[in-house]
Amino acid sequence: MNMKQRDLKPCSACGKGVMNAGIPIFYRFKMDTMGVDADAVRQVHGLEEVMLGNVAIAQALGPDPDIVKEIDSKEIILCHSCMMSCNAGSFIGG
Ligand SMILES: [Zn+2]
Repeated sequence: MNMKQRDLKPCSACGKGVMNAGIPIFYRFKMDTMGVDADAVRQVHGLEEVMLGNVAIAQALGPDPDIVKEIDSKEIILCHSCMMSCNAGSFIGG
């Protein structure tokens, strides 16, 4: 997704502008906080046990609930300096 000037936000780590190191590259991530619903896991596991461990049948016959739910979602912006200093560059081949 391209951005206009008004869409730019400062680096989420250092708070400086995204070009503070003079390098015209920055990184944008979507970070979702996910939570496992223990009750749903127990429900799924219980039905799988009833079906003698056959996961496919348990999913077909049971309610197949969401066992992981999104709790929060936020956008993280990292300038090039912060990306390299936290060694996250290894994820992008930097
Ligand atoms: Zn930064």
